[in-house]
Amino acid sequence: MLLICDSLQQVAMFDKIRNWRVRRIVARHPIAESLWRDALRRCSPARRLGASDQATLRVLATLFLDRKSVEPVEGLHLDDADLVLLATHACVPVLKLGLDWYDGWHSVIVYPGAFNPRRQHTDAAGVVHQTSTVLAGEAWGRGPVILSWADVLNIGQKPWHNVVVHEMAHKLDMLNGDANGFPPLHRRMNRRTWSQVFSGAWDRLKEEQRNGADLPIDPYALESPAEFFAVASEQFFEAPAALRQHLPEVYRQLELFYRQQPF
Ligand SMILES: [Zn+2]
Repeated sequence: MLLICDSLQQVAMFDKIRNWRVRRIVARHPIAESLWRDALRRCSPARRLGASDQATLRVLATLFLDRKSVEPVEGLHLDDADLVLLATHACVPVLKLGLDWYDGWHSVIVYPGAFNPRRQHTDAAGVVHQTSTVLAGEAWGRGPVILSWADVLNIGQKPWHNVVVHEMAHKLDMLNGDANGFPPLHRRMNRRTWSQVFSGAWDRLKEEQRNGADLPIDPYALESPAEFFAVASEQFFEAPAALRQHLPEVYRQLELFYRQQPF
């Protein structure tokens, strides 16, 4: 009994300290009203939220900018409006999960445009290969998120696409190991249902692709289960009605995972 009381008191004390820290950060580094209005105008998933959720998102964006280091490179300059926009997009997926889901990494590196990392790997036969792929974004397991600013500014221009949500979805996916389309599910979610829904949708879309049909999702989703989860997450927030219409079971699983109902 005493133990329970003690632990309850500790939890209450922890919440008190945490709330006090949050209030202090928000008071010291508030997002100016004009910058927040601008971010809402340019981030449609945030614009669709009710007033209370928008207020929560604003606090999360403030904390994101306090906890993470946004590092523009190659001569790129990001002003306060840019930083608020980036943080707003980044916090959409964790609106109902909390910023702790982004613990374990610190940096967001931002290139002016698509970037071209040259990598080297050695195959099983000991042969060294150089690879070079042009990227709009990248998320490292315990490392940074890397973004192309041109592609961040493109959000809303190309339907369904949101490179920030995409990379953040990879980060959530990697909370329990390699990116494999299987993020840590909540207690009341069913792992088997998640697997069945995503693999069933994957098989149907592959079949449609083989038949030359127009897919109801960016075909990049079919690169791997990890990309399927990230691309479906983009569409969940950017075009929820279309995802719910064409892939209703996937939509439902994402609704349970993100604890949001964007449509
Ligand atoms: Zn990806």
